[in-house]
Amino acid sequence: TIAYLNGEFVPLEQARISPLDRGFLFGDGIYEVIPSYAGKMVGFSQHMARFAKGLAAIEIDYKIDRDEWQTLVQRLIDDNRETLGDNIGVYLHVSRGADTRRYHAYPEGVTPTVFGFAFALSAPVKADRHAHPGASVSLAEDLRWERCHIKSTALLGNVMHFQQSVKEGNAETLLYNHQGEITEASSSNVFIIKDGKAFTPPLDNQLLPGITRMLVLECLKIAGIEVSEEVITVGELLAADEVWITSSGKEILPIVKVGDNQIGDGKVGEIWEKVFSVYSEQKFVL
Ligand code: PLP
Repeated sequence: TIAYLNGEFVPLEQARISPLDRGFLFGDGIYEVIPSYAGKMVGFSQHMARFAKGLAAIEIDYKIDRDEWQTLVQRLIDDNRETLGDNIGVYLHVSRGADTRRYHAYPEGVTPTVFGFAFALSAPVKADRHAHPGASVSLAEDLRWERCHIKSTALLGNVMHFQQSVKEGNAETLLYNHQGEITEASSSNVFIIKDGKAFTPPLDNQLLPGITRMLVLECLKIAGIEVSEEVITVGELLAADEVWITSSGKEILPIVKVGDNQIGDGKVGEIWEKVFSVYSEQKFVL
C-alpha cells in the first residue's frame, strides 16, 4: 500500500521515522481516522476540524490546509483501492517530531512528523434488523485519563480497556465513571433508546466528540426521533430498549448484551434499523 510521510507518497514498507520522534517516545501526537466507501469519504470536514482542534490543544504548530488534505486523503484512497478494495479507512497522524533529548517539555524548533496510511475497513452491513445478530460488549470502570476529548495517539488506556473485551469474547468495552455514568466505549461512542427516545452522554472531557456520534445525532433528527444529550447511568443503560455504539469503522453497531445482561428482548431493535437506514443514505452528504 501507498502511504504518506512528510510530504511524500511512499510504499508503506519504506516509510521511516526517527526513534526519537515524540510520537514514539511519549505518544505526543494527534490522529484521525476517516472512513470511505467506493472512493467517497464520510465526514471529511468534521474530521479535519477535530484534527485542527486536537493539534491546537497540545500546541503542535501545524496548520492543516483543508483542501490540500482533501487531495492527500483522496489520493491515499484512490491509489490503494486496487489492493484494499472499496471500503477504506485513512489514518492520519501528526506527532510533535523528533527531538535530540528525551525531555518532557515541548521542544522548540522541531518539525512535526506527518503520516497517513490506508487500511481495509469491513463492508457496511445492511439496515435490516432481522439480518443482524447484534453484538455483545464488556463493561468496566473508565480508568483512562481526564482529557478524553483530545484524540491523542497515547492510547494505552483505551487499548487496555479494549483488550478486556477481546478476552471476554466481546466486540467492545463500555466505560462508566466514578459516579456510575456511562462515558463512552474504548474506541466508540454510546447511544441508548428508551421508550422511543434516544440518549447519548453530553460532550465533556470524559469522551471523544465522535464524528459518527455527530452524524447520528443529525440522522436521529431526520428520522424524527427525539434525542437528548444527557447523563446515562449504568442502570439506565442496562434497562434500555436498545444500545448502540458508533465509530468511523463500526458505523452504528447494535448491542444486544452488556456483560451478562440482555438488552431489551435480546434482538436488534426497530429504531436501529430506521436510523441506520437514514445514516446509510445520508452519510456522504452530512
Ligand atoms: N471514542 C473513542 C475513544 C474513539 O477512539 C473513537 C474512534 O476511534 C470514537 C469514540 C468514535 O469517534 P469517530 O466516530 O469520530 O470515529
